[in-house]
Amino acid sequence: MGPYQVSAERTRFSSPSHRSLRQRNGMVKIVMSSASLAHSALLPDSIQVFQRGWLSSNNVLIRGSRQTVLIDSGYCTHAAQTQALVAHALDGRPLDLLINTHLHSDHCGGNAALQAAYPDLKTHIPPGHAHFVAAWNPDALTYGPTGQSCPQFRFDAKLEPGTEFQLGNALWEIHAAPGHDTHSVMLFEPVERILVSADALWERGFGVVFPELDGEGAFEEVASTLDIIESLQPTTVIPGHGAPFRDVATALTVARQRLDGFVRNPAKHMQYAAKVLLKFKLLEVQQLELQALVHWAQSTPYFASTFARHFSGVALAEAVEQLVRELVRSGAATMQGSAVHNV
Ligand SMILES: [Zn+2]
Repeated sequence: MGPYQVSAERTRFSSPSHRSLRQRNGMVKIVMSSASLAHSALLPDSIQVFQRGWLSSNNVLIRGSRQTVLIDSGYCTHAAQTQALVAHALDGRPLDLLINTHLHSDHCGGNAALQAAYPDLKTHIPPGHAHFVAAWNPDALTYGPTGQSCPQFRFDAKLEPGTEFQLGNALWEIHAAPGHDTHSVMLFEPVERILVSADALWERGFGVVFPELDGEGAFEEVASTLDIIESLQPTTVIPGHGAPFRDVATALTVARQRLDGFVRNPAKHMQYAAKVLLKFKLLEVQQLELQALVHWAQSTPYFASTFARHFSGVALAEAVEQLVRELVRSGAATMQGSAVHNV
């Protein structure tokens, strides 16, 4: 199998059949070989993780003897890459089932493309916002308020927390995971003790607690979801972003410390959320004029409402410029003249 090129941010693989990638001219070159990577030892051969970046969530591909499943489909601007990765890994088999842990744009932006590519594909989503998918309401699904995009997709069934179902050759449990997103679910395979945690737990932290931006307290839900993860005693966690990991105890400690910091100082969480939204925009467009970024923030309701609620008295333009300076200081962006560039 020869190499092929895709335009995207860095992608890594925990699969025995994907070896390495190199960046060239802003493109990512993926070279296939049969050598294995360290991550593959963490997971059975039937499970592959396409480790994406922050714009696209990871994709988890499960190849059972009679069924193939993909968990989460990345952001829409990477949909062609997602489709290529899945097609390559499936080597001619169709994709049978698509699961979304939650409906944020970076987790289901490839749904529409995969549904078009695999006409018999079934799609299962968490129940909380299913009615907004059925009636396609991009504002209720957060795509409007976050200034993000997600092509319309359909679904066939709901993932009811507290139930279990067959994914590939194993039974997986569905657990509610409110906090980062009120309606998120996690998936747990109790024999190998593998947890697909989505954005409820990363190796170093967890996703922005979006309900807090709407003024709905959700830090307690984050804490109870972390408790659920601890009680499941997973040996391997496949997070929504970042590499799969096994030191779950340390990850839980880090997450709880981070949560404590947010609970003590909610403004810190708001700053973090605003920075994440700005960085997400930069990841999507790679570069834009500072004034255009300010304009985008002004027309993005989560920004406008977050600042109105928590930083009254500070002009939004000033606050965005301050956040951009912090992104530059932390190495997440650069300024070249009046343009902001993603790093
Ligand atoms: Zn999310």
